[in-house]
Amino acid sequence: PEILRMAGVNKVFNGQTVALQGMNLTVNEGDFISLLGPSGCGKSTALRLIAGLMHPTAGAITWAGGQEAGDLGVVFQEPTLMPWATVAHNVWLPYRLRGKSFVAVRDQIRLALKLVGLEAFEDAYPRELSGGMKMRVSIARALVTSPRLILMDEPFAALDEITRHKLNNDLLELRAKIGCTVIFVTHSVFESVFLSDRIVVMAARPGRVHRELAVDAPYPRG
Ligand code: ADP
Ligand code: ADP
Repeated sequence: PEILRMAGVNKVFNGQTVALQGMNLTVNEGDFISLLGPSGCGKSTALRLIAGLMHPTAGAITWAGGQEAGDLGVVFQEPTLMPWATVAHNVWLPYRLRGKSFVAVRDQIRLALKLVGLEAFEDAYPRELSGGMKMRVSIARALVTSPRLILMDEPFAALDEITRHKLNNDLLELRAKIGCTVIFVTHSVFESVFLSDRIVVMAARPGRVHRELAVDAPYPRG
């Protein structure tokens, strides 16, 4: 079933920079979609519009059945963990924002940390973790509420190549386990082919969808 639809979405900044023009995209449950394209083609803008962090200048973004709190998990390039809080308390954040006590969602937090292989680190602090581990905490935080859609904005771009490769494999495995729906922004052709079923190729000036490619599982999955 369809989760979300962008129809004729334009985004113009300051009345002059056309970041996106006429973007159409339909996201179906279980999709892993890469938004692929050069810097400045509007990938982050598209993601921020979907996240509701800004509004389109024209066009519409519609959630099937309306959007509810917790429907969205977001992973940015920087893990943005709270340094003063333990790993488990960091993963609690999306629930905390919805008024759920730590104790009430303890099991969900444990499960999310187990899914990213960090169940032994719930009481650790971010400074004790490697870059890859911090990124995994941030992924656990994005999926802890079982959101309908997870947005990832070049999540592994700042990591070294080996860690990045490991996390790409982990992400495939994670997806096979929990069947999440993901929009993944990248400018890596390799990453988009490796991870996704649908590659949305963006072109710049103005940012728009150039074409969409289906990936017919050329790599062993899961
Ligand atoms: P990408 O993520 O593909 O690199 P962006 O979505 O960040 O592209 O940017 C698309 C275009 O919109 C670029 O020309 C960028 O400079 C411009 N842009 C993005 N955010 C803003 C903003 N807040 N104010 C003005 N221009 C912006
Ligand atoms: P990552 O890819 O998560 O950054 P690294 O290979 O950089 O992992 O690991 C950094 C250190 O953290 C290594 O000493 C590694 O053994 C340890 N480490 C990483 N993940 C775990 C884990 N799930 N359990 C125990 N130790 C781990």
